[in-house]
Amino acid sequence: MLTRIVVHYGEIGTKGGNRQVFETSMRRNILAALSPIGGVRVRMVDNRFFVSLDEEGVPAAKLSLSKVFGVVWFAHVEGAPLSYPEILETSIRVLAGARKEASFRVRVRRPNKSFPMGSQEMARKLGEDIIERLGLQVNLSLPDVTLYVDIISDEALVYREHLKGPGGLPVGVSGRVLHLLSGGIDSPVAAWLMMKRGCTPVYLHFYVAPSAEPIVQSKIGELVRELSQSGEETRLILIPFSPYQLETIDLPSDYEPIVFRRFMRMVAENLASRLEFPAISTGDNLAQVASQTLQNIACIDSGSSLPTLRPLLGYDKDEIVQLARQIGTYETSILDYKDCCSIVSSHPRTRMKIADVDEAGRRHGFDELAARCISMGSMATFRDGAIQLRPLSAVLDARSERLNELGPERASG
Ligand code: ATP
Ligand code: MG
Repeated sequence: MLTRIVVHYGEIGTKGGNRQVFETSMRRNILAALSPIGGVRVRMVDNRFFVSLDEEGVPAAKLSLSKVFGVVWFAHVEGAPLSYPEILETSIRVLAGARKEASFRVRVRRPNKSFPMGSQEMARKLGEDIIERLGLQVNLSLPDVTLYVDIISDEALVYREHLKGPGGLPVGVSGRVLHLLSGGIDSPVAAWLMMKRGCTPVYLHFYVAPSAEPIVQSKIGELVRELSQSGEETRLILIPFSPYQLETIDLPSDYEPIVFRRFMRMVAENLASRLEFPAISTGDNLAQVASQTLQNIACIDSGSSLPTLRPLLGYDKDEIVQLARQIGTYETSILDYKDCCSIVSSHPRTRMKIADVDEAGRRHGFDELAARCISMGSMATFRDGAIQLRPLSAVLDARSERLNELGPERASG
């Protein structure tokens, strides 16, 4: 039997001229997230989306909608014609599963002001009639069940669950960002926060293994999958670390962490410029580890022309861990993995000098080295549970092909 879920969004309703772009992206993202369920339709009425689907798909749809950015809240609703007796009968049906001794309250909202009964009056009358019909107890402050009735333009929506979405903006509306993904706890959380502000991350990972294949099967591929909302295509660029390692073998060990991070940033900048992404993002935090002092961050960013966004800058580690658990990446992040940063020395100077980092880059020919590493890179595309791995050069070479490769640009600015 067909049923409906109503989905409310917040900020996108306030974005003036961009409103249509936001709503189109939101609709597309809802459809993509619910695509595994099948037979789903999404319609917009009165600043809310109505998702029509088969009753059987409701539990899976609720789980998916709770992860779609832009969704503020949603509810599995029954519709009733705009007449009090019909609304009462629908309310009785919606409350049918409640225990006999359960307490309840009624919340009525009436955006449709032409309905003759006021919201207080209707809440009171529904309350009285429900007590009489079902024998439930009223408890206005801490009820077991809340019955919600929304009077909208052409019907009343009756429901008893008010479910929270993640809020934020629909993924895609802020454009693409090249996100440096390590195997650690922080960078997946940072990617999630970028998505929450409407960015589509294309992931970039530097790997130690002899080839890219095992990396897509490792926790790195798993993290990318966990961060993708189902139904969406996601891309991961894989760059080998070994040419860098051979070239910089004589680097003083207290230079290694910052010089390597500067190198990663140069590769990222090269790629982001060629792919026409306006920004790079990372999981850096301020002063969490020695490589992240303000002075060292300045060394890493020096010479970049693209902004590097660091959404975790203001978070404490335990807040990051809590978010990682909440979004489901924590258990994967703590699995064993041989990361580049576990090979380079982990004891940097806390105050590197920009001139020394620049000098190391010049001496080791970082521009040429970055180009060489990129030429050995690969791109993995994750789609519907399958992964396609191809040389990165094929994507970078042809501009038109490249733009197709990256999927439709959803941003309007
Ligand atoms: P994380 O938990 O994200 O690894 P961290 O606290 O361990 O962060 P670093 O190891 O200094 O800090 O890494 C800082 C940031 O640099 C990471 O958040 C990530 O954005 C990027 N980074 C580190 N290693 C890699 C890598 N191998 N590939 C791509 N990006 C990386
Ligand atoms: Mg790390």
